Amino acid sequence: MFAVLECVAVQHDRRIVILAALIALLGMLSFYHLLLRADESPLKRRPTWVLVAAFASGLSVWATHFIAMLAYQGSVPIGFDFPFTGLSAVVAVLGFWVSLQFLWDKKAAAVLSGVTITLTVGAMHFIGMTGMQVAARIDYHITPILVGTAVAAVLFTLSFVAFKHLRGWQQVVVSASASILGILALHFTAMSSTILIPDPTMHGPDIDGFDRLVLMAAISGVTFVVLAITGAAALIDRYLVDLKGLVGATLDGMAVVREGRIVEVNARFAQLFDASEASLIGENADDLMHADDGIPAHVARAVGVEAVPNRGDRSRTFELAVRTIEYRGRPCEVMAVRDLTEKRRAQREVEYLARHDVLTGLANRTLFQERLKNHITIAQNDDQFALLALDLDRFKAVNDLFGHAEGDRVLRAVARILQRASREGDLVGRLGGDEFVILTAFGTTSDEARTLGEHILSTFRREMDYVSDPTAVGVTIGIATFPANGDDSETLMHAADMALYRAKINGRGIVAFYDAAMDLETRERRRLESDLRQAISRNELELLYQPVHSVENGEVAGYEALVRWQHPTRGMVPPDVFIPIAEESGIIITLGEWILHEACSTAVGWPPHIKVAVNVSPVQFSLANLAYTICNTLEKTGLAPSRLELEMTEAALLKDRAVTLATMRQLKELGITIVMDDFGTGYSSLSNLRSFPFDKIKIDRSFIAAMKQDENAHAIVRAIIGLGRSLDLPVTAEGIETDSQYRMVVDEGCAQAQGYLFGKPGKVPARSRRADKAVLS
Ligand code: C2E
Ligand code: CA
Ligand code: CA
Repeated sequence: MFAVLECVAVQHDRRIVILAALIALLGMLSFYHLLLRADESPLKRRPTWVLVAAFASGLSVWATHFIAMLAYQGSVPIGFDFPFTGLSAVVAVLGFWVSLQFLWDKKAAAVLSGVTITLTVGAMHFIGMTGMQVAARIDYHITPILVGTAVAAVLFTLSFVAFKHLRGWQQVVVSASASILGILALHFTAMSSTILIPDPTMHGPDIDGFDRLVLMAAISGVTFVVLAITGAAALIDRYLVDLKGLVGATLDGMAVVREGRIVEVNARFAQLFDASEASLIGENADDLMHADDGIPAHVARAVGVEAVPNRGDRSRTFELAVRTIEYRGRPCEVMAVRDLTEKRRAQREVEYLARHDVLTGLANRTLFQERLKNHITIAQNDDQFALLALDLDRFKAVNDLFGHAEGDRVLRAVARILQRASREGDLVGRLGGDEFVILTAFGTTSDEARTLGEHILSTFRREMDYVSDPTAVGVTIGIATFPANGDDSETLMHAADMALYRAKINGRGIVAFYDAAMDLETRERRRLESDLRQAISRNELELLYQPVHSVENGEVAGYEALVRWQHPTRGMVPPDVFIPIAEESGIIITLGEWILHEACSTAVGWPPHIKVAVNVSPVQFSLANLAYTICNTLEKTGLAPSRLELEMTEAALLKDRAVTLATMRQLKELGITIVMDDFGTGYSSLSNLRSFPFDKIKIDRSFIAAMKQDENAHAIVRAIIGLGRSLDLPVTAEGIETDSQYRMVVDEGCAQAQGYLFGKPGKVPARSRRADKAVLS
């Protein structure tokens, strides 16, 4: 230790030692500063910075060493041989470079790098010594050299540990300090352990004192310049990289344009035009895209405008903003381009969804109303158009029977048919459920609207075949015209609805036009319908019972249940009025169930030989579960099936004959009697009597009423009774008001008679046996 201190203090020129220390200090500060730059750089650029760092540090360590050698003032003059001295510099740079190769990858990087640098500095030192020209023999004390080397290795290692773990100014300063100590330790232990034994036979140095000074100045000068340049380069590089990184990090494409030509772009800009950055330089900015407003793209406007690219994906939409800046000393424009494509697409999608029916892709209510209002607003004096309201027949049944997925498929098929059938300029919409509408193009006369409607009907008939496809649906169309049927959207929609309603009543599968008279009638019907929906829960319905007289014993054989509706404001609404409404609207299903339950539970209280006849609507017969419902009702009320008679008209036999027949068989199996009501008013009564298992025939009261004056009617009554006899079916005559009528039907062989003569429909007959006798007496 003492030898080392003595070596520094006595054997060296102190000013030159300070210069060497200064070079070491600056060199190491610069080294770690450059390493920091390498550390921060992207992987691709790191090797460059490592190389620069190795060069700067190797050079400065070598310079330190060399100048320190020059500072040596031993007893013999010393000179240096160029090749070895040069080699020692190369070794220093190479050694630093090698030592830095581990720094980022290896676990024990600090130790590896530290040791490598120690070896490097050691090697450099001794190669340098080898190149020393001195007229002396050189001897070394090995132990201090080994100790110095170990200390230096620890210090270098520590410097890398500090570099890896410290941050901020400490990262550079602490690391640099440790490594300077390492360099000095190595140099001065080595120097103090070097013994020069003068030998006059040997060759002395070539250079004299003056040369030494020049050499020193040159080396330190070059070293300082190199350090200054590399240090500054690192700083500038860092600043530029940061700046470029910032520009590159924006989501916007950026281009600098000078006199219309692109001089700089960022990666995002190139990506937006599907081009490479280099290929865009020198391009005319206005060739790349055009702004919506037609003003050249690069002309300054700080506020964004929409622009469309002229190359790459042209369906894109950009937002373009331009600002003027000073770039490379001249005024330029910076174009910031933002890709709005996704945003616009999402916006369009939201708009589309808000205005279209998701299932069919047709216009939804919102869009349809908008277009209708727009049509009305822009209509000129003699402009006309039509509004078609369409409703699917049987759709609800398809949906119930085959499920919603199938229902959806049918709706899509219908949408396709409508779109194909409609003409250019017509707007097809779906308002919900199975409600479709068509707004025709301007100039559509009512004749053309009818043609369109009929075209749709015929397309449906062709493509929706009931026979082969159980999911086929029909369509009914109501048409209103502008301005004849209304000049605002609400009135027009209402008129089309009314026309549709009318069409449905008149038999479905047809086209009907709106007319004002029907509107009143329909409104009335609608009002009744909505009242009727509440009638059961409001207890406004009641069953009356009309006795059925047995010709054989003159007693009451049973009662026919006849429904009455006591409307809160209209008073008594006759069943002839509200039953058709109930049938048309489907209310008959709940109504029918209520009637059945009411009649059965009343009849249970009657004497066991008294039957109850209940009228069943054709709509009820078209339901597959009628037998089940009736069976349930009988069970619940406790009425014996043999006491129930169901009266059905021929209308029930018109459609779904197979379903009806099956239901009838099930009912008969239960022991229920089935009566053909209103016989003679239907189409093919006779054949129906043969094909369906009726138990009884009821002649309609219109024949009885006509019998006296009309020989023909009399003949028909006679024929019917004869037919019944031949088929072994008892016949009931309905509407007997007079004795003569009664006599006539008895003469012809009627089994039962019913009519005012025996009793009008009245309140519930008494429930007890005794009271019953009173009725019968
Ligand atoms: P309908 O089945 O032919 O019922 C017989 C109708 O003739 C009843 O009229 C009854 O009051 C009436 N009537 C009975 N005897 C005479 C008579 O001597 N002279 C005259 N002029 N008329 C007589 P109502 O009760 O007005 O029923 C009319 C129609 O309404 C019934 O014809 C039936 O088709 C339907 N209806 C009544 N109640 C129900 C019901 O509960 N369910 C169903 N589905 N339909 C019903
Ligand atoms: Ca009846
Ligand atoms: Ca009748």
